[in-house]
Parts: sequence; C-alpha cells; structure tokens
Amino acid sequence: MCDHGKESVESAKTGNFITEIIDQDLAQGKNQSRVATRFPPEPNGYLHIGHAKSICLNFGLAKRYNGTCNLRFDDTNPITEETEYVESIKQDVRWLGFDWDEREFYASDYFDQLYQWALVLINKGLAYIDQQTPEQIKQGRGDYYRKAVASPYRERPIAQTLELFEKMRQGEFKEGECVLRAKVDLESANINMRDPIIYRVLHQSHHRTGDKWCIYPMYDFAHGESDAIEKITHSICTLEFEDHRPLYDWFTSALELPDPPRQIEFARLNLSHTVVSKRKLLQLVEDKVVDGWDDPRMPTVSGLRRRGYTAEAIRNFCERIGVAKRDSMVDVALLEHCLREDLNVRSPRLMAVLDPLKVVITNIEPGQVERFDAPFFPEDFSQGSRELTLTREIFVERDDFREEPPRKWRRLTKGSEVRLRYACLITCNEVVHDEQTGEVIELRCTWDPESRGGNSPDGRKVRGTLHWVSADYAKPVQVRLYDRLFMVENPLEAKGDFKETLNPDSLQILDGCLVEPFLAQADLGELFQFERLGYFCVDTRLSGPGKPVFNRTVTLRDSWAKIERKQG
Ligand code: ATP
Ligand code: MG
Repeated sequence: MCDHGKESVESAKTGNFITEIIDQDLAQGKNQSRVATRFPPEPNGYLHIGHAKSICLNFGLAKRYNGTCNLRFDDTNPITEETEYVESIKQDVRWLGFDWDEREFYASDYFDQLYQWALVLINKGLAYIDQQTPEQIKQGRGDYYRKAVASPYRERPIAQTLELFEKMRQGEFKEGECVLRAKVDLESANINMRDPIIYRVLHQSHHRTGDKWCIYPMYDFAHGESDAIEKITHSICTLEFEDHRPLYDWFTSALELPDPPRQIEFARLNLSHTVVSKRKLLQLVEDKVVDGWDDPRMPTVSGLRRRGYTAEAIRNFCERIGVAKRDSMVDVALLEHCLREDLNVRSPRLMAVLDPLKVVITNIEPGQVERFDAPFFPEDFSQGSRELTLTREIFVERDDFREEPPRKWRRLTKGSEVRLRYACLITCNEVVHDEQTGEVIELRCTWDPESRGGNSPDGRKVRGTLHWVSADYAKPVQVRLYDRLFMVENPLEAKGDFKETLNPDSLQILDGCLVEPFLAQADLGELFQFERLGYFCVDTRLSGPGKPVFNRTVTLRDSWAKIERKQG
C-alpha cells in the first residue's frame, strides 16, 4: 500500500535528518564551515521524477547553507553514455530552476588523477592485477553465505602489478583478461569490501575522452574520489549505496585525502503506477511502447514538462514528500495534487468541447451574433478577458445531454433550462435523432434574451452551467487524453514482465474537438484550464502554427484531497 508520503514529513526547508548531520558538522567546524553538494547523474538516459527529488535535495541544501552544488556527470561507463543525454540533463536541471554556475564537471575529466591514485594504491601494496577470469573472480568473492577465497594473484609483487597495469593502459590486454582490484578485506561480511575491482579493460571510445583510454575506473572508485577532487562535503546518495559506504571511506583513507567527503544515504522516491528506473524507461522507449523519452505519459522530467507540469509543482511535490531513511511508495495522486494547486492559480479558464453535440438556438437568426465579455479567471476581470460570440448554432458536450436523465440531473434534457457559461440561459425544446441510427444529432433550444451574461432575470433557479462554443467561430483541434501508464501500483513487483501491466488505454486521441478561437492562437507549452474538463497545455512537438494539439495535463477531480480528508 502507498503510505501517501505521510511517513516522511521531514523536508529540506523545515529540516530533516540530513540537515541535522550537516548542522553537527558545521558546529564541529568541519570542512572550514563549507557545505558543498553535487548532483551526479550518469548520462545514460533522461532524468525522471526520482532524479528531480535528488536535484531539489542537493541544490536545496546548498541554498539553505549558502553553499554550492555541482552538476557532475558520472560518465565512467563509455558503453551506455551519450552526449544527447548530457544535453537533456542540463536542460532539465535548468528548467527545474537550478543553476550550477560554472561548476559543470565530468568524472571523465578526472581519469588522469584517478589513474595516479590507482598507482598510489598499488605502490602502497593496496591493489593488485588479477588475471583470473571474470567468473573466477566472482566465485572467489563469495556471497552472503560463502566465504571469499583469495586470488592466486593477490600477493604478487608490487613491481609486477605496476608493469601489468601499464600494459593494461597501453591496450595490451583484451576485455576481461585482467582487472585491477583493491586489496581491502576478504574476511568482511560486506561483499563490497572483498577486494572490489577498481579498473577494467574496455576497448571503447568515450563520448568525451575519445580513444585516450582503454581502461576505465569502476563506479565505487570513481565516485568517491570525484567527490574528493571537487571538495564535496556531503555526498548524498540513495539507500542502495549504504553498503558501499565502508568502501567509500576506505578509499579516501587509503589515499590519505584531507577533509574526506561524507556519504549520507536517503530513501529513493518510488511513485505508484509508475516506474522510476532509467533502464526500464529506456525499454519503453526502445520497444516503442511510448513515443520517446518525452512522451507525456513518461515520468521523465521532459515528459512531465511536455504534459504540462510546471517546475513549481514538481519542486513543491519534492518539498512535500521530504526525505526519509526508509524506502516507501508515494501515491502519484500527491504529485497530481501539487500540480493542480499550481495550475489552479496560473491557468486562464477557457472553453473547449471535446465531443460536440449541435444545438440550434431557434430564436437567434442566422447571422445574428451576441457578444459577451468573459474573464480568464472567474469573477476577476483585472487579469484580462476575451470576447465570446453566441450564434444560432453552437456545440455543447454530448455528455451534457441525456434523453433519460438520472435523478437530480442538472444538465440538458428535453424541457430543462441550463446556463451557457458567461452567455445566457437556454431551454431545450426538441431533440432531433438520426433517422437511421436513432442517435441524437441535434438539440433545438431557445434562449432568454433577458438572461444576458447568464444571469437569471427573475430569480428562477437554473442549476446547471455548461461550457459551449459557437459553431461559426470555434476552431477544430486535436486533444490527447492521458491516463496512468501502468494499471498496478507497483509494476516492478508484478509477476512476469513489468510491461504486461501497461495500461492499454493510457493515450486517447480525440480529433474534431472544438475550441474557442482564442485557443487556436495559443503558444507552444501554454497552459489553460478548459472549463469543467481539466487542465490542458499546447503540445510542444505536435502543434503547428495556428494548429495547436492539446495535452490534458490533469483532470480537475482531485483524488488526493479525498485521501487527505480520509486520513483526517
Ligand atoms: P536509475 O535507477 O533510474 O538508473 P540511477 O541511480 O542509476 O537511477 P543516476 O544517474 O546514477 O541514476 O542518478 C543520479 C542521482 O540521482 C543519484 O545520486 C541517485 O541516487 C539519484 N536518484 C536516482 N533515482 C532516484 C530516485 N528514485 N529517488 C531519489 N534519488 C534518485
Ligand atoms: Mg546510478
């Protein structure tokens, strides 16, 4: 079950277990009272909402302590990394509202220094070249139940290791023929400490260093030492690295680095009905289950942006879920709630009809135009308005009419009177059916000219208010409705392939929707509320000049508010 983020009430603004640690360090005068954090993405995919949490946390801490946060690309694996990813990551961090100034770093910039430090370890007798096969090495390290067995190469002379390491660097070995291992502690219960590999042979071009290297440092060695080079004070990572912390500390201590950075772990963000793993998201992209990394259904920063999420909404969400020490699942409804809170104050209200049903107002002559001024924000003309035009033929939402209405129906049915938003009151007198199919194809109504603006002239009660567009003035557009990408709360816990839990109806494309003319001129990415229908934005990829395609960002209904009320 989701715990709806309640468990983790600690936030970066109000303080949390991480700020407590930092406060203590500062009180003890550590790191010359500096606070330096970093956000270290591996450029092997686009950023997702989990990364957004880490970004808000790291940049947020820097801000809180008047410190710095570096953007560091953890690019030690040439096989999966690409510059396309580097560019998208920079764009996303910036869009989220954070600035790394000139502090843009790459672990690959440190390959020379890391190599020198590997030599230091070798010269101290703390690293050796192992020429066992990868399988033998894996076996030899044992596991939770099996003790480690020392490699026959473990005690080889330092001079020999130096010579072989040089040959490794020169490209004289094939991949998998030999590796450099740190000599740590084979007796340790922590497998990470059982002589981890720190360098391997990879005959691969790197997106930044080209063919300069054919040996590459492993994550554990590169990451902590990159932190040290950048004089990071607090290296914040997710819980799965807790078991790596002893190794992190072992490296800085073996290399005798001054003011070593301190690793602190927090729980990664898991979001219901979503997967937040670059590897899994890449699968969706490669299998063309979605239309790219920025498909509006993706939990990537670029997907959320294209869907109409604002940076403010995402930052508020990250602030609200806070940081925890225990893994948990946050309900995606909370993210949507934060989104609605933000869109509610910023989105002008306009009208669109998604499934049009024709209404003929019989007491308006053909060519007659009634004009009304309608505010963009309810009852607030100070934030602007536009003109609405009522004509003899208009369209309303098909769903707003029922031939046989349920009890308490407040919308259109034969004989009922309703309000057209900002325009007038109309009464439905006649229902026209298609002769063959019997389908309702037209309603014939009359308007009350005394009700201009939608006011009841004699105080008679008219409960229902409908959105509408003029048949003469409305513009046709495509609207895309989105639903959750996955049908189950935790797709990765489902039996079988996680892709079997995909929601087949996550995208609905509606052509022939009608919008008031103002909306046809909207800019790419512009956000609106379509009255009674939800929040929508102009798709940045599919729209053409004067031909917007609208994404439904989120519906108006707020399931989170309900959840919160239940929790009391
Ligand atoms: P993924 O599992 O999606 O591949 P990752 O951890 O491998 O993510 P990195 O590029 O290494 O991706 O992540 C950069 C930073 O973002 C790391 O510090 C990582 O801990 C953090 N991060 C990644 N996923 C999450 C998440 N779900 N919640 C919080 N922080 C995360
Ligand atoms: Mg990672």
